Amino acid sequence: MAPAMTEAAPLTLFNSLTRQLEPFVPVHQGEARVYTCGPTVYNYPHIGNMRAYVFADVLGRTLSFKAYKLTHVINITDVGHLTDDADAGEDKMEKMAAQQAQSIWDIAEHYKQAYWADVRALNIRQPAQWTVATDYVPQMIEFAKQIAPKHCYELDSGLYFDASTVADYGRLARANTEEGEGRIEAVEGKRNAADFAIWRKTPPGEKRQMEWDSPWGRGAPGWHLECSVMSGEVLGFPFDIHTGGIDHREIHHPNEIAQNQAKCCTNGLDVAENSGARLWMHNNFLVERSGKMSKSSGEFLRLQLLIDKGYHPLAYRMMCLQAHYRSELEFSWEGLQAAQTRLKRMVMRLSVADQPIDQQRAEEVLNDWERRFDEVMSDDLNTPSALILLEQAVVSNFQMDLKRPYIERMDAVLGLNLLTLKRTDFRIRPKAATITEAEIEAALARRKEARAAKDFATSDAIRDELAANGVEVMDGDSLGWEWKLGD
Ligand code: AMP
Ligand code: ZN
Repeated sequence: MAPAMTEAAPLTLFNSLTRQLEPFVPVHQGEARVYTCGPTVYNYPHIGNMRAYVFADVLGRTLSFKAYKLTHVINITDVGHLTDDADAGEDKMEKMAAQQAQSIWDIAEHYKQAYWADVRALNIRQPAQWTVATDYVPQMIEFAKQIAPKHCYELDSGLYFDASTVADYGRLARANTEEGEGRIEAVEGKRNAADFAIWRKTPPGEKRQMEWDSPWGRGAPGWHLECSVMSGEVLGFPFDIHTGGIDHREIHHPNEIAQNQAKCCTNGLDVAENSGARLWMHNNFLVERSGKMSKSSGEFLRLQLLIDKGYHPLAYRMMCLQAHYRSELEFSWEGLQAAQTRLKRMVMRLSVADQPIDQQRAEEVLNDWERRFDEVMSDDLNTPSALILLEQAVVSNFQMDLKRPYIERMDAVLGLNLLTLKRTDFRIRPKAATITEAEIEAALARRKEARAAKDFATSDAIRDELAANGVEVMDGDSLGWEWKLGD
């Protein structure tokens, strides 16, 4: 077993609130408490959404690597998120339930399971807790009751938070409110354009599928309230890190922060604790130029679509890791193919026997790589550089017994499953393959015979025919050809 690392690098993370790199100083010694804004389960997640959870997962794994006792919470939003992040539009869940003529509860269950399937496929670790918004409605009402006297006012449509009652409203967005105001649809009677709904009353004569009694009438909680309540309830204010996609920096998180300030009875944001979390971290977007990321377009980019086309889901994780989480990442099939090839090469390399070499020297080199791996990950999660160091250990000629523990520790942070993936796992039969398994086996048998007879023209023709049917043949594959069907 390799010696443990001696000096660990200090962990530095980018805080969106201050727009600066800051040392990670835990609220509770030796612990890290993290809250991640989870999906609204009204539709399948697209792969851009999943980038947000790969990022949160890498953050959590890094905190574990750095020996913090991690408590990670991700929520499931099954009520309250409107089609517009501010207060305009319909409830996304209600809208989808009406479109599909199903109960909201069935819709929520179906898409929650679909999201969890993507979480597993991307090797995202299970958080300590999944909090489901509808399980916390009594606590939301309680929270709203506490902050209402000083910070809220009632209109016919609901209970609203008065953004002018907290100092520094919107600092996270850096939107001096003029900018924010433009995007927020007017609700009649709102005191400030930035004010937002804490409780949305069911309009008279209407009945919503999901509604609860409250001091402000029957209705449903506002989306922003949910995250303030679930994070505070489970992790306690202040907790360490709150994460989400960069779009949440504009409206959702500034509104959460305003509520947290009101709840904690604090005023300015000069002390980080006043926002409820010490660090606010945001991943940048995955973009796709032709609009296939939009859930409203026919063939939108779901993880299952990638699998149906014959890609391993961890190739997408690799693609995410190749970019820094704060950089925009452009999706392309060529990029995904390149990420898959890189991952496959690493997996194949680990199945090849190594040259015995001087053990002393091997450990020196491997220790140095792991030390540098720690440094780059501690520098605001520099996964592109960390990948290179892990890759060096993988392709090195050191004996597997020697390098295995290093690879294990580094991969525990990046989560590519290098030591359990097999080359055959990449044999995902594309859904569109126009050929059956039996036909592939028969073609491969004919090809083997042709090669044995040194009839390379026939052998190549069979390979080309298989390729035209979406099946890749790799020569010199000691593991033989096996199928794994995409599910
Ligand atoms: P939603 O289900 O819409 O609440 O989104 C789930 C998560 O995905 C949130 O953290 C969003 O900020 C994030 N997100 C949405 N679109 C993208 C994208 N294209 N790239 C990266 N993250 C995204
Ligand atoms: Zn949230």
